[in-house]
Amino acid sequence: MLNIRKERTSTPKVKPDYSNLGFGKYFTDHMFLMNYSTEKGWHDPRIVPYAPLELEPSAMVFHYAQEMFEGMKAYKTPDGGVQLFRPMKNIERMANTNDRLCIPQIPNEDVLQAITETVLFDEDWIPTTVGTSLYIRPFIIATDPMLGVHPSHTYIFCIILSPVAAYYAEGINPVKIFIEREYVRAVKGGTGYAKVGGNYAASLKGQEKANALGYSQVLWLDGINRKYIDEVGAMNVFFVIGDEVITPALDEGNILPGVTRASCIELLKSWGVKVSERRLSVDELYEAYDKGELKEAFGTGTAAVISPIGSLDDETKKAVINDGKIGAISQRLYDTLTGIQWGTVADPFGWTVKIK
Ligand SMILES: *Cc1c(COP(=O)(O)O)cnc(C)c1O
Repeated sequence: MLNIRKERTSTPKVKPDYSNLGFGKYFTDHMFLMNYSTEKGWHDPRIVPYAPLELEPSAMVFHYAQEMFEGMKAYKTPDGGVQLFRPMKNIERMANTNDRLCIPQIPNEDVLQAITETVLFDEDWIPTTVGTSLYIRPFIIATDPMLGVHPSHTYIFCIILSPVAAYYAEGINPVKIFIEREYVRAVKGGTGYAKVGGNYAASLKGQEKANALGYSQVLWLDGINRKYIDEVGAMNVFFVIGDEVITPALDEGNILPGVTRASCIELLKSWGVKVSERRLSVDELYEAYDKGELKEAFGTGTAAVISPIGSLDDETKKAVINDGKIGAISQRLYDTLTGIQWGTVADPFGWTVKIK
């Protein structure tokens, strides 16, 4: 149990227009901070006015990217309550990421307490317009002021909050995807399963290339065989082939274990849909397409929830999926998941956690 010191801002900001939030552009009045040192462990948990962090230019995070982050949301329910969606899944994943990056662990219940108290401190920032939520961004950075390569002895754990609209301004319209054959995002033995900034830095080049060619996202292939599908952009990916829903398996360690991914698998199973977590090659995908069996494709992630894929192109081949329209399974998953998250659809799985 943390004893969190709280300091309220004397200069609250003017709230943004909740009907035009975009994603990750506005931040609330406060943030959570906690420090780590070898001598004291994690200490001085506090909620303070949102402000720049002061760091040495030599701080290790700037040079060797010892950094992790998480992403989740808080929702206002119709009865005025506040809820989180499967927060322990994020917190358990955070522990796995910390382990991979040699970042000292924080007890799971302390992380949940920090998230809960920070969200409730800025409760008046949770937007209520349809499709909006309060995005929660916990992250840890290494702060030792020195240039030797080693795990830092000091860290800052920070949580910032951002009122957000739906991720895609256009709504859930299917997007054009480019199959990336040159650059890879993750390899077996690497950090693909961990939520770390370095993975994103390494993905920018492929993303820029796809954008320049007129696509909105990249389909990443595995780094060893260069033929099995990993993820789409910064989302997990699903394909509906015949009556089977397929998503890449997690066992190679190069795929981020998404909370949305896990929830889609559980929902589909509960509906009696056949779901397989297995390897899927681009060749198998195009074969299914040629036979008319590739019915739907979509990405999953907290930010966008479900992002339907309208087309999937290689340098040589093109596949237009479901006429470029959102499919029935994608739509049903989106409606059910967002309904549970906003508290307008029953939650038979006990996924939501009321914090107020
Ligand atoms: C965060 C993330 C996802 C989605 O995970 P969710 O828990 O569903 O938000 C998928 N892929 C990558 C690379 C990610 O960073």
